[in-house]
Amino acid sequence: MERLQKVIAQAGICSRRKAEELILNGKVKVNGKVVNVLGTKVRGDDNITVNGKRIDKEEKIYFVLNKPKGCVCTVKDDKEGRKTVLDYVPSEHRLYPVGRLDYDTSGVLLMTNDGDFTNKMIHPRYHLPKTYEVNIQGILSDDDIRKLRKGFTFEGETYAPAKVFVREKDYSRDRMQLTLTIFEGKNHQVKNMMKALGKEVRRLNRYQFGNVTVDGLRPGECRKLKRHDVKELL
Ligand code: URA
Repeated sequence: MERLQKVIAQAGICSRRKAEELILNGKVKVNGKVVNVLGTKVRGDDNITVNGKRIDKEEKIYFVLNKPKGCVCTVKDDKEGRKTVLDYVPSEHRLYPVGRLDYDTSGVLLMTNDGDFTNKMIHPRYHLPKTYEVNIQGILSDDDIRKLRKGFTFEGETYAPAKVFVREKDYSRDRMQLTLTIFEGKNHQVKNMMKALGKEVRRLNRYQFGNVTVDGLRPGECRKLKRHDVKELL
């Protein structure tokens, strides 16, 4: 909870003194009601308007987290007491994940308090490349690889052409490692694409999201994105 005049000033609208004046003159509403008492405390999610215009209280902030395996992308407390991605980012910002990675998937996860940015990133028509390191049980045939590169439909879902790079084929253990770049973000997309080819994913790591990687970050570590990183994503 913060004092109203402080929140208005922090939003960059005016000085704290001017904010006090605006409050006393009845120009400020909190959740639709005029508040003309100085020192009123407001919460982060209160809707504050000054002269009818909603203020943007929070500074927009963007992080990349190297999501470890074994945590969920939910922002609410997980029912089963599992760790969530919020356990790994600074708690003073109300961050939430941009899209989802599965519980057992690791790697690049953007976290922000910017709803517009998130909506843009996860919109089906926004074709930002996402690159995954994929370890599977079994070995894909040349036909399978062609299918991934051409795009296909499986269980009513259409998958657009992906970029595929075969890193390793281990015939003795019947395993394979590949790098897959996809340009959409459907639910469990990589696992389902592999399932369509009769293969099970053993390990999945998102290596890159647009221009952003987790280079230099250990699992569970995060860093703030620079303004130009964010601009390049948009
Ligand atoms: N595809 C999946 O199957 N799972 C993820 O977590 C990300 C992409």
